[in-house]
Amino acid sequence: MQQYDVIILGAGPAGCATAISLCKKGFKTIILDKKSVSAQPVGENLDVTAKTILSELNLDVRSLDAAHMAAYHSVSLWANKTPVWKDSLFNPNGHGWHLNRAEFDNCLLNTAMQTGVEYLTCEQLEIETDIDQWKINFNVKAEQRSLNCRFLVDCTGRARVLSRKLSVPLFRFDSLMSITSSFECEGNEIATQSIIEAAPNGWWYSACVPGNKRVLSFFTNAKTDYFKMYADANKFYEGIGETTLLKEIVPAKELFSELTFRYANSEKPEKICGSNWISAGDAAAAFDPLSSQGISTALKMGVKAAGAVAVKLSTDSDSALAAYEKTYNDLFDDYLDQRQKYYASVFAWDTNDFWKTNSSINIKSLHN
Ligand SMILES: Cc1cc2nc3c(=O)[nH]c(=O)nc-3n(C[C@H](O)[C@H](O)[C@H](O)COP(=O)(O)OP(=O)(O)OC[C@H]3O[C@@H](n4cnc5c(N)ncnc54)[C@H](O)[C@@H]3O)c2cc1C
Repeated sequence: MQQYDVIILGAGPAGCATAISLCKKGFKTIILDKKSVSAQPVGENLDVTAKTILSELNLDVRSLDAAHMAAYHSVSLWANKTPVWKDSLFNPNGHGWHLNRAEFDNCLLNTAMQTGVEYLTCEQLEIETDIDQWKINFNVKAEQRSLNCRFLVDCTGRARVLSRKLSVPLFRFDSLMSITSSFECEGNEIATQSIIEAAPNGWWYSACVPGNKRVLSFFTNAKTDYFKMYADANKFYEGIGETTLLKEIVPAKELFSELTFRYANSEKPEKICGSNWISAGDAAAAFDPLSSQGISTALKMGVKAAGAVAVKLSTDSDSALAAYEKTYNDLFDDYLDQRQKYYASVFAWDTNDFWKTNSSINIKSLHN
């Protein structure tokens, strides 16, 4: 049985960032992921603030411009009927990107492997714990394998495989869910802007992605009557009629792809580390896509998680783990505060259930 210092579950942005940083510090590290070819990662808007952290992770930032689309402009119709434009021309750091997300995640994983991180795609992963060791059992193409490690990292996103296994309670703050479709993008100026628009029962987001495609999502409260309505392809299309900017750029209904659905609510486990485990990325705190901070926070906190793990493995002190947890808690508290203010700024439909529920902080505690 092979022995590792650290096993990381999940090869998304958080897992790769944690792995690269640990490997650079000299720890024997492997990533295990159940990635399937058909799985499509979501989230395509990468903020320019990610540039610095990507350079630290040895990723060639110039290659982003070649493989992804520069995000120069965005426009939102949110608090009132006046469009608010944002132009990267006025940002000293430059522009962000609309990602080909699968390509971006692959690029991070390749960078991790070039740095010396090992990687396995696995199935039927099981976690066993001993006093000072973790044993991970899994299948690789029907062959049973087991690995041991001193420290385990949960970067499995909203699946939160490890914290579920440890029965860590989860705090859920809202019930946001996305309903998404896409269509061929025209390539004219309005078509390349990302657009956010508030609507009576939720909000719309749309952006172009590489491959001349435009994604279009409606975010609303899951399990409500209005959710059930928009989940129907015809009603989804009709709903675009409630918008001002988006309705100008959508093609005929027949050109829309099938609808897909994703949880997009804010949630956080009560604990995100213990003396021999840690979570990073969505597994530690999942954000509303409105904040557009999921990927950059996953990268940034992956690097911080690696720092805390390195201190623990080198000195046996828990102080860096405690500091890491505090940083994440503070970041999440600030985010919740901002989120609430942002939703509360939409007065046009403030008596509608969607805007009423999202403009206050409601904590629901779920025990796994
Ligand atoms: C609809 C929607 C739109 C979004 N848009 C944006 C956006 O525009 N910009 C932005 O910054 N963020 C956005 N986000 C958030 C962003 O997608 C996440 O914050 C980001 O992907 C988190 O990265 P991660 O590495 O923590 O998790 P993930 O990217 O979810 O990676 C988790 C990895 O764990 C693996 N895994 C899962 N279960 C197991 C298991 N049992 N065993 C082994 N491996 C497992 C998965 O295969 C995956 O590779 C959006 C989210 C949603 C839902």
